[in-house]
Amino acid sequence: MQETSFYIKAYGCQMNVYDSKNIIEIMECRGFVRTLDPKAADILVFYTCNIRENAARKVFSAIGMLKSSKTKVIAIGGCVAQAEKDEIFKKSSLIDIVFGPHVYHKLPDYIGQILNGEQSKILDIGLEKFNKFEKAQRKNDVLFSEFVTIQEGCDNFCSYCVVPYTRGREYSRAAKDIISDIRYLISNGAKEITLLGQNVNSYDGDAAYINIGTKGNTWKLDRLLYEISGIDGLKRLRYTTSHPKDITVDLMTAHSEIPILVPFAHIPIQSGSDRILKLMNRGHTVAEYLDKLKMFRTICPHMQFSSDFIVGFPTETDEDFEDTVKVVNDVGYVVSYAFKYSRRKDTPASQMDGQISEHEKEGRLRMLQDSLSRHQIHRNNSLIGQVHSVLFDKCGKKENQYIGKNGYMQSVVVECDSNPIGEFRNVLIESSGINSVSGKILQK
Ligand code: SF4
Repeated sequence: MQETSFYIKAYGCQMNVYDSKNIIEIMECRGFVRTLDPKAADILVFYTCNIRENAARKVFSAIGMLKSSKTKVIAIGGCVAQAEKDEIFKKSSLIDIVFGPHVYHKLPDYIGQILNGEQSKILDIGLEKFNKFEKAQRKNDVLFSEFVTIQEGCDNFCSYCVVPYTRGREYSRAAKDIISDIRYLISNGAKEITLLGQNVNSYDGDAAYINIGTKGNTWKLDRLLYEISGIDGLKRLRYTTSHPKDITVDLMTAHSEIPILVPFAHIPIQSGSDRILKLMNRGHTVAEYLDKLKMFRTICPHMQFSSDFIVGFPTETDEDFEDTVKVVNDVGYVVSYAFKYSRRKDTPASQMDGQISEHEKEGRLRMLQDSLSRHQIHRNNSLIGQVHSVLFDKCGKKENQYIGKNGYMQSVVVECDSNPIGEFRNVLIESSGINSVSGKILQK
């Protein structure tokens, strides 16, 4: 019998990349064969992101470019699917299946129903919580640095954000399942794990069947980190993304006590203006945010941070924007990400008066990015002469060139005769650029 092939394209955040890997596993377990050539695929799967308008638009143009005479089924999944529901069928008659981020384990069945002619269009945007994790048994393509979802959804309802509507309310996976996934990944070659969640700090897991732990009575993020750090073979541990208001002293202490937990956290502030933070419904002030970072550095002196920023939020004035630049200058982030405010359907901010023109947003974005780049250059320069532990995971463009990441998620480039991919090596940093630093591997 001829094999049915599928091609998958994922957009957006690391959680979407993680979900798309699970979809690959689920599809392969059901006999579908993955191809990297969309024109040769029977089935095209697009796993989408809805955080910014551009991301949603990109999907529809990709369908036109990637489909071919061989395409039999087109499925759109993820957050655009959840947000747009059956509107998607009206936007493109080519689409057969629309599935939300909570039901991707059902995709093989839905594809079968379309191929058999039992259904002509399928829409499933159900909010089942845990089934998809049980169905995805990662069996191949384990990378040296892997992601594991511990928490999904968000209860914060920032006024600009679609996540609470597309990923649903917060829920946490049971600690025993997370630990079992990590053990499996480590035994198959992973050395670094990043715990994923829309708001990992709100992790509130179920400790059933695990009779360990002396730290507190409930499974909050800090306790989970202590437990995971004891897994044999795990060499480095990270987590993302954090909400400032949910960062606890216990979590800061975990950073100072767990050697394999990186002294680095992504803690988005979004704006440096209290007035804008209030309109964003972020639940904290600038001073509260800066106090947490200061306390973090007191408890864990090597701690460094990254952040996200939104410029051009409705009613943002030049003064509000200058306050944001001031936070950038005061904190000195290792790296940060700045975005123009994107008006998302059905969010409170999209209804606000005082929307800022694209021209104004562009100007502010350029200014903020200049400021962030200056800090990044300064930070990278300051690493010269330091020794960093680097996990190498890919080749560079030149012969004998290899690239890895240090604990602060910075790219480190070396040239050497023996291939270090898959290894942690100590690297003496000798030079720096804006996006990476270079150095030499020290002999053990
Ligand atoms: S914390 Fe705010 S920005 Fe982050 S996912 Fe939740 S609602 Fe969205």
